[in-house]
Amino acid sequence: MFCKNCGKELIGTPEYCLNCGAKPLAAHSFCQNCGAAITPATEICVKCGAKVGEVVGETKGGKSKTTSVLLAVFLSFWTWLYTYRKDAWKFWVSLVLAIFTGILAVVTSGVSLVFSWIFNLGVLGVWIWAIVDTAVKKDEWYRSYS
Ligand SMILES: [Zn+2]
Ligand SMILES: [Zn+2]
Repeated sequence: MFCKNCGKELIGTPEYCLNCGAKPLAAHSFCQNCGAAITPATEICVKCGAKVGEVVGETKGGKSKTTSVLLAVFLSFWTWLYTYRKDAWKFWVSLVLAIFTGILAVVTSGVSLVFSWIFNLGVLGVWIWAIVDTAVKKDEWYRSYS
Protein backbone atom coordinates (compact mmCIF):
# COMPACT_ATOMS: atom_id res chain seq x y z
CA MET A 1 0.00 0.00 0.00
CA PHE A 2 0.90 3.68 -0.14
CA CYS A 3 0.96 6.09 2.79
CA LYS A 4 -2.10 8.36 2.48
CA ASN A 5 -0.18 11.17 4.19
CA CYS A 6 3.11 11.30 2.22
CA GLY A 7 2.50 8.97 -0.73
CA LYS A 8 5.47 6.69 -0.04
CA GLU A 9 5.04 3.00 -0.89
CA LEU A 10 4.92 0.84 2.25
CA ILE A 11 5.40 -2.90 2.75
CA GLY A 12 2.25 -4.42 4.22
CA THR A 13 -0.06 -2.26 6.33
CA PRO A 14 2.13 -0.85 9.13
CA GLU A 15 0.44 1.14 11.87
CA TYR A 16 2.85 4.05 11.39
CA CYS A 17 4.51 5.22 8.14
CA LEU A 18 8.30 4.71 8.18
CA ASN A 19 8.74 7.82 6.01
CA CYS A 20 6.57 10.45 7.74
CA GLY A 21 5.51 8.80 11.01
CA ALA A 22 1.81 9.38 10.44
CA LYS A 23 -0.83 6.66 10.47
CA PRO A 24 -0.80 5.62 6.77
CA LEU A 25 -4.58 5.29 6.52
CA ALA A 26 -5.58 8.30 8.59
CA ALA A 27 -4.77 10.99 5.99
CA HIS A 28 -6.43 11.88 2.67
CA SER A 29 -3.59 13.25 0.50
CA PHE A 30 -2.65 10.13 -1.50
CA CYS A 31 -4.40 7.01 -2.78
CA GLN A 32 -3.46 4.00 -0.58
CA ASN A 33 -3.67 1.73 -3.63
CA CYS A 34 -1.54 3.52 -6.27
CA GLY A 35 -0.02 6.54 -4.52
CA ALA A 36 -1.71 9.15 -6.75
CA ALA A 37 -2.34 12.57 -5.21
CA ILE A 38 -5.98 13.00 -4.14
CA THR A 39 -8.10 15.57 -2.31
CA PRO A 40 -9.86 14.84 1.00
CA ALA A 41 -13.18 14.85 -0.91
CA THR A 42 -12.04 12.01 -3.23
CA GLU A 43 -14.01 8.82 -2.68
CA ILE A 44 -12.81 6.81 -5.70
CA CYS A 45 -9.26 7.27 -7.07
CA VAL A 46 -9.33 8.62 -10.66
CA LYS A 47 -6.03 6.89 -11.46
CA CYS A 48 -6.67 3.30 -10.30
CA GLY A 49 -10.39 3.27 -9.45
CA ALA A 50 -9.84 2.03 -5.88
CA LYS A 51 -12.08 3.19 -3.08
CA VAL A 52 -9.79 5.62 -1.25
CA GLY A 53 -11.53 4.99 2.08
CA GLU A 54 -11.00 1.25 1.82
CA VAL A 55 -7.88 -0.69 2.74
CA VAL A 56 -6.72 -2.80 -0.20
CA GLY A 57 -4.00 -4.37 1.89
CA GLU A 58 -2.30 -7.52 3.07
CA THR A 59 -4.95 -8.58 5.60
CA LYS A 60 -7.65 -8.94 2.96
CA GLY A 61 -5.26 -10.58 0.50
CA GLY A 62 -3.95 -12.93 3.18
CA LYS A 63 -7.43 -14.26 3.91
CA SER A 64 -8.11 -14.74 0.19
CA LYS A 65 -4.78 -16.58 -0.14
CA THR A 66 -5.67 -18.96 2.70
CA THR A 67 -9.15 -19.54 1.27
CA SER A 68 -7.65 -20.08 -2.18
CA VAL A 69 -5.14 -22.67 -0.95
CA LEU A 70 -7.70 -24.46 1.27
CA LEU A 71 -10.20 -24.59 -1.60
CA ALA A 72 -7.56 -26.03 -3.93
CA VAL A 73 -6.58 -28.70 -1.37
CA PHE A 74 -10.25 -29.52 -0.66
CA LEU A 75 -11.16 -29.78 -4.33
CA SER A 76 -8.15 -31.89 -5.25
CA PHE A 77 -8.91 -34.18 -2.29
CA TRP A 78 -12.47 -34.74 -3.56
CA THR A 79 -11.23 -35.23 -7.10
CA TRP A 80 -8.91 -37.87 -5.69
CA LEU A 81 -11.81 -39.63 -3.90
CA TYR A 82 -13.89 -39.73 -7.07
CA THR A 83 -11.17 -40.65 -9.50
CA TYR A 84 -8.88 -42.85 -7.44
CA ARG A 85 -7.52 -45.76 -9.50
CA LYS A 86 -10.15 -45.46 -12.25
CA ASP A 87 -9.04 -42.17 -13.77
CA ALA A 88 -5.82 -41.38 -12.00
CA TRP A 89 -4.78 -38.79 -14.60
CA LYS A 90 -7.72 -36.56 -13.63
CA PHE A 91 -6.35 -36.55 -10.11
CA TRP A 92 -2.91 -35.56 -11.38
CA VAL A 93 -4.42 -32.75 -13.48
CA SER A 94 -6.25 -31.39 -10.44
CA LEU A 95 -3.16 -31.86 -8.26
CA VAL A 96 -0.99 -29.88 -10.70
CA LEU A 97 -3.65 -27.14 -10.82
CA ALA A 98 -3.82 -27.16 -7.02
CA ILE A 99 -0.01 -26.84 -6.73
CA PHE A 100 -0.08 -23.94 -9.22
CA THR A 101 -2.84 -22.34 -7.16
CA GLY A 102 -0.83 -22.75 -3.99
CA ILE A 103 2.38 -21.34 -5.51
CA LEU A 104 0.53 -18.42 -7.10
CA ALA A 105 -1.32 -17.67 -3.88
CA VAL A 106 1.95 -17.64 -1.90
CA VAL A 107 4.13 -15.63 -4.30
CA THR A 108 1.50 -13.20 -5.56
CA SER A 109 -1.05 -10.79 -4.14
CA GLY A 110 -3.61 -8.28 -5.33
CA VAL A 111 -4.55 -8.53 -9.00
CA SER A 112 -2.47 -11.69 -9.49
CA LEU A 113 -4.69 -13.41 -6.94
CA VAL A 114 -7.35 -13.45 -9.67
CA PHE A 115 -5.13 -15.88 -11.57
CA SER A 116 -4.95 -18.25 -8.62
CA TRP A 117 -8.75 -18.21 -8.55
CA ILE A 118 -8.80 -19.03 -12.26
CA PHE A 119 -6.66 -22.07 -11.41
CA ASN A 120 -9.09 -22.87 -8.60
CA LEU A 121 -11.93 -22.80 -11.13
CA GLY A 122 -9.84 -25.19 -13.21
CA VAL A 123 -9.63 -27.59 -10.26
CA LEU A 124 -13.38 -27.13 -9.68
CA GLY A 125 -14.01 -27.92 -13.34
CA VAL A 126 -12.03 -31.17 -13.14
CA TRP A 127 -13.86 -32.02 -9.90
CA ILE A 128 -17.36 -31.48 -11.40
CA TRP A 129 -16.29 -33.38 -14.50
CA ALA A 130 -15.10 -36.31 -12.34
CA ILE A 131 -18.44 -36.42 -10.43
CA VAL A 132 -20.50 -36.17 -13.63
CA ASP A 133 -18.35 -38.88 -15.18
CA THR A 134 -18.86 -41.09 -12.12
CA ALA A 135 -22.64 -40.51 -12.17
CA VAL A 136 -22.90 -41.29 -15.89
CA LYS A 137 -20.85 -44.49 -15.64
CA LYS A 138 -22.40 -45.75 -12.42
CA ASP A 139 -22.31 -49.51 -13.14
CA GLU A 140 -18.75 -49.37 -14.27
CA TRP A 141 -17.84 -47.31 -11.21
CA TYR A 142 -19.40 -49.82 -8.77
CA ARG A 143 -17.67 -52.72 -10.48
CA SER A 144 -14.29 -51.07 -10.23
CA TYR A 145 -14.75 -50.34 -6.53
CA SER A 146 -16.32 -53.60 -5.33
ZN1 LIG B 1 3.96 8.61 5.18
ZN1 LIG C 1 -5.24 5.07 -6.83
